[in-house]
Amino acid sequence: MKARGRHGNRARQSNRASNDNRGIVYLVGAGPGAPDLIAIRGADALSRAELVIYDYLVSPELLRLAPPNAELIYAGKKGGADKTIEQSELNAMLIAHARKGRVVVRLKGGDPFIFGRGGEEAEALARAGVPFEVVPGVTSAIAGPAFAGIPLTHREHGSFVAFVTGHEDERKGEESAIPWKHLAAAARNRGTIVILMGTARMRTTFERLRDAGLPDDTPAAAVEWASTAAQRTVLATLGTLADACAHNNVGAPAVIVVGECAGLREHLKWAEKMPLFGRTIVVTRASATGSDFAAALRRLGADVVQFPTIETAPPKSFAALDKAIAHLDSFDWIIFTSATGVESFIERLKLLGRDIRFLGRASIAAIGPATAARLHDYALRVAAVPDEYRAEAIISALGVKRIRGKRFLIPRAEIAREVLPEHLREIGAKTVEVAAAYRTVKPRNPQVERMRELIAAGTIDLVTFTSSSTVTNFCELIGPSARGLKAAAIGPITAATASERGFEVVVSPEEYTITALTVAIREYLAGARK
Ligand code: SAH
Repeated sequence: MKARGRHGNRARQSNRASNDNRGIVYLVGAGPGAPDLIAIRGADALSRAELVIYDYLVSPELLRLAPPNAELIYAGKKGGADKTIEQSELNAMLIAHARKGRVVVRLKGGDPFIFGRGGEEAEALARAGVPFEVVPGVTSAIAGPAFAGIPLTHREHGSFVAFVTGHEDERKGEESAIPWKHLAAAARNRGTIVILMGTARMRTTFERLRDAGLPDDTPAAAVEWASTAAQRTVLATLGTLADACAHNNVGAPAVIVVGECAGLREHLKWAEKMPLFGRTIVVTRASATGSDFAAALRRLGADVVQFPTIETAPPKSFAALDKAIAHLDSFDWIIFTSATGVESFIERLKLLGRDIRFLGRASIAAIGPATAARLHDYALRVAAVPDEYRAEAIISALGVKRIRGKRFLIPRAEIAREVLPEHLREIGAKTVEVAAAYRTVKPRNPQVERMRELIAAGTIDLVTFTSSSTVTNFCELIGPSARGLKAAAIGPITAATASERGFEVVVSPEEYTITALTVAIREYLAGARK
């Protein structure tokens, strides 16, 4: 008897029992374009992948979900034309790698089983006896219309849907296998037709529908690059869409919708109304903290490219920090200047077999709200946070009385500005110990080529910088083509570095926080329509 139900996984186990080799292929749907439209299960498979083979329409952002040491192979497939890898070769590759015991993710645009040959890949795996699982994705056939404000069904306007290829593999002299007559009849009777790979032959396809009796004035729409910054939608009719697309230069990849439902866009368009719709913004923060910032920008409709230019690493020496930790109870104040500083300090404490109780009697100061929030996560009360988030401002937040004769510890980045310790000493602090808790380094494998291409294509609306080192590293990685890009800087020091390096700093918020930076970006781009 088969084990059934959500919690009965016996059937699964017995499947695996015959196969000691853990090699497996996950056919994963990447979603239509926006990276946050992948299924949670797909993201999980990616996070465990040893090899990822991905297609042209997959968001490169998703590759960041794979472990840093995973091998990434581009399989090409631009509109079926420039296949970098032949399908048969690709199938053979999937089989061979899984047989070597590797966890392979075959990452495909949209849903793996809607066009794009996912079915053929699964057949090849099944024939070879290679274990595989399918992780569905949001198909562009559904997401394209959704992002254009077109419901595919509607109680009054649409009772059924057909997904149709507009790029039929027609042999010469053979009749089309697609029942255009029936589809035309369907579209006349509240049916919705969704055509993929259909822009090149749109005129022929529409001719067939018209010949079969579908009226010229039937609503029809094309949605290009749905869910990305390049998304554009043309709403017209069966009689006019092809000309309208040609006129607006709308082409592949696009989803075409034919039927009454398409007309609903007029009232239901929403994506274009998001404040950062159509904008491509680069986040250069380290991945760990950059993801929250990226998510905040995506929520406003931006297409975000994460291009971390810094990464946190252990300092060259922990000697000073370890010494300080050994006599933690001697400090009156511990000043944290970044959330990463808090994180690294606590990690070191743990590694040395201590815990937060060893902080003893010291009061704690944080340079800004993000640092304070991280301390709060560890149930550490922060006695002082300045109004302005700069090293200098912490002095006034503490006040001379709380500084004179007191002993300070500042666990922070290996290289940092000397202003704070110098000021504390000048004012009369008894001792100031600065201890390196971490160091920022350039990331190991940044997607430099991709960034250069995006810059060359004029795709980037704004590059965001959250510290001077993100600016200098960006320039070192990208080279001269970075000059002239518009930049958003978190504070005046970062802004000055960015200007010096040739960026046009157009955003620099009053308050030096990510939240304020996000708001300022939104305001700036709302005023600067494309
Ligand atoms: N498996 C994919 C489809 C692959 S066929 C899916 O489920 O979405 C490739 C076709 O998908 C393109 O020709 C285009 O019609 C459509 N497509 C894919 N991504 C798209 C996007 N972001 N916007 C519009 N159409 C898209």
